[in-house]
Amino acid sequence: RQSSSDRISHMAIDIGGSLIKLVYFSRSSGGSGGGGGSRRGGADGERNEAICDGRLHFARFETSKIDVCLEFIKSKLQLGGSDSNGESKSSSRYKSVIKATGGGAYKFTDLFKEKLGISLDKEDEMDCLVSGANFLLKAVHQEAFTCLNGQKEFVRIDHSDLYPYLLVNIGSGVSMIKVDGDGVFERVSGTSVGGGTFWGMGKLLTKCSSFDDLLEMSHKGNNRVIDMLVGDIYGGTDYAKVGLTSTTIASSFGKAISDQKELADYKSEDLARSLLRMISNNIGQISYLNALRFGLKRIFFGGFFIRGHEYTMDTIAVAVDYWSKGEAKAMFLQHEGFLGVLGAFMTYEK
Ligand code: ADP
Repeated sequence: RQSSSDRISHMAIDIGGSLIKLVYFSRSSGGSGGGGGSRRGGADGERNEAICDGRLHFARFETSKIDVCLEFIKSKLQLGGSDSNGESKSSSRYKSVIKATGGGAYKFTDLFKEKLGISLDKEDEMDCLVSGANFLLKAVHQEAFTCLNGQKEFVRIDHSDLYPYLLVNIGSGVSMIKVDGDGVFERVSGTSVGGGTFWGMGKLLTKCSSFDDLLEMSHKGNNRVIDMLVGDIYGGTDYAKVGLTSTTIASSFGKAISDQKELADYKSEDLARSLLRMISNNIGQISYLNALRFGLKRIFFGGFFIRGHEYTMDTIAVAVDYWSKGEAKAMFLQHEGFLGVLGAFMTYEK
C-alpha cells in the first residue's frame, strides 16, 4: 500500500487479451517512493522508476482476474466507490477518467463505470504501441538490446537514424508494424500464433500451474525428444546440399507420429520446450520475411510473451539471423510489455 503522502496522478491502462498493464505516476511528499521489483496488492511484477520529481509505477494483472485489478486501482486512487448514478464521489478528474487502450478498454467500459465510477478515455491500440516504442527508444538509456547465445548487449540508438524499423509486438496475438516516424506507421502483418498460443497450448499439453511455471519448464526441457530433426530423417547426417544441419528442426512435434507414446509419456518440460521453440521460430521467421519485404534492417520485439526469457530471445534472434544471413538484427526492449500502456499514458501530454 502506498504511503498516505503519495499523490497519484495520471493513470493509464492497457487491457489486452491475456494481461492488463497499468502505469501511474505518483509524487511523494514524504519521500517514501519504494524500490522496484516488489510485488504488492495483487499486482504481478510491480515496479517503479524515478522520473520528474516522482515515480512511474508499472503493474500487470491477468485479464481473467480483472477484479483484482479493479481492487488495486480502487486502493491506489483511494476511491470510495461510486454513488447510485455510477458517478465517482471524487471531484478530481484524474480519479474519474483514465486513459485506456487495448480491446478490453471497449469490453470493460461498463464494468469500470459500475465498480469504480471511472470512465475509460480510449486511445487507439496501434497508435499507443508505436508512440510507446518511439518514446522508449529515444528517451530511455539502455532500452534496446540484442541477445545471442545468452549474451545481452545494449544497443545505442542514434535518434536521427531510428526509422524505418519493424516493430513486432508479441502479445496474445502478434502484430507487425512498419514504423517510419512519430505517428507514421502501417500494420503490415501479424500472426495468430503468439503468446496466447504458447500459454493456451502449454496449459493443455503440460501440467503447468501458471505462465511462469510453463516458462520455467521450457527452460529445463529438451525439444529433440519431440521435434523431428533433419538428422532423424537422414539417419543422423546433415542435408548439406541445402545447408541443413542434422540438428535443424525439420518438423516441430514430428517425432510424436512414430513414437509409440501417449501425451502422458512425454515430460512436460520437453513439451514446453518444443512449443516455445516452434512459436518463437515461427515469429522470428515471419518477422524476417516482413523486414525483407520492406527492406528493414532492424526489428524490435516487444510484448509480454518474451518476459526477458533468454531462450525465447535467442530462438527469435537466431531465426532472424539465419534467414537474413546476418543482414537483419533482432532487438528486444527492457519495457517489452508496457509499450501500449506507455503510449496511452503519454496522450495526457496532448
Ligand atoms: P495482450 O495485450 O494481448 O494481453 P501482452 O503483451 O500482455 O499481450 O502479452 C500476453 C502474453 O504474455 C500471454 O499470452 C503470455 O504468452 C505471456 N505472459 C507473460 N507473462 C504472463 C503471465 N504472468 N500471465 C499470463 N501470460 C503471460
